[in-house]
Amino acid sequence: MKPVDAHCHIDFDQYSEDREEVIQRSRERLEFIVNAGSCLENNRKALQLQEEYPDFVIANLGLHPTYTDKFDQLEEVKEQIREEDPAAVGEIGLDHHHVDSPEMRDRQEEVFRQMLSLAEELDKPVVVHSRDAEEKCVDILSEYDLEGVMLHCFNGSPELAGKAADRGYFIGVTTQVLYSNRVKEIVESLSIEDMLLETDSPFLYRGERNEPLNVIESAEKIGELKEADKAQVVEKTSANAVELFRDG
Ligand SMILES: [Zn+2]
Repeated sequence: MKPVDAHCHIDFDQYSEDREEVIQRSRERLEFIVNAGSCLENNRKALQLQEEYPDFVIANLGLHPTYTDKFDQLEEVKEQIREEDPAAVGEIGLDHHHVDSPEMRDRQEEVFRQMLSLAEELDKPVVVHSRDAEEKCVDILSEYDLEGVMLHCFNGSPELAGKAADRGYFIGVTTQVLYSNRVKEIVESLSIEDMLLETDSPFLYRGERNEPLNVIESAEKIGELKEADKAQVVEKTSANAVELFRDG
C-alpha cells in the first residue's frame, strides 16, 4: 500500500488556484487522503471533493474548536452528519491555545461533547484536535464508547501519548516531525503501530504551504527515528488509516 495523508484541509482557500494539480500529484504517490471539515461550509466542500474523487478523497465532517463564531451551526452540522454519513466525525475537540475565556472554553467543551455523543450513537470514529488541552481531551474521550479515535496533530507529553495508545487511540504524526523536538520525542516513545501520517495541510511545513505528498518525507524521518524502513512505516500507518476510515 502507498502512504495515506490521514488529515488535511485541501478545501481551504490556499488551494483555490491549483487544487486539482495538488490532488492529481498526490494521487500518483498516495493511497488516499482524508479531508477534515471544520464547519458547515467546509464540510460541504469536503463532501464535494469526496464526490469528485471518490476513490481518493475521504471526507470527515465536524465543527472545529477554534471556529467559535460557527458554534451556532451545531444543530445543522449534526443534521448534516446524520444525512451524509461520513467516514468519521472531525475535526472536533478543544483548543486552549486560541481560546482563553472560561465561558468560551465551556462552550467549546459542550460542542465537543455533543459531537462525541453523536459519534457514539452513529458508531463513527472521531478525529480530535487537542491543542494545549491534551489531558482534558483524553479524559473526556474516556467517557464515551467510540468506534475509533485519532488524536490529530498530537503535541502533548510522550507519557500521555502512550496512555492514549494503550487505549487503542491512533496518534496523528504531522510533518512537524521534520522539525519539532517534541514530536520527535513522541515518535521515539511510541510504536509505529499506533501512528497515522498526516500533514494538516495547508499548515505545518516550516512556514510554507503544506501538501499531502509531504507525508512521504515524514515516513522517511519516522523510519530514521525508529530505526525502521520507510516501507514498514508506510505499511503500518496506511493499514491504520484503512482500519479507521475505510473498514468502518
Ligand atoms: Zn486540521
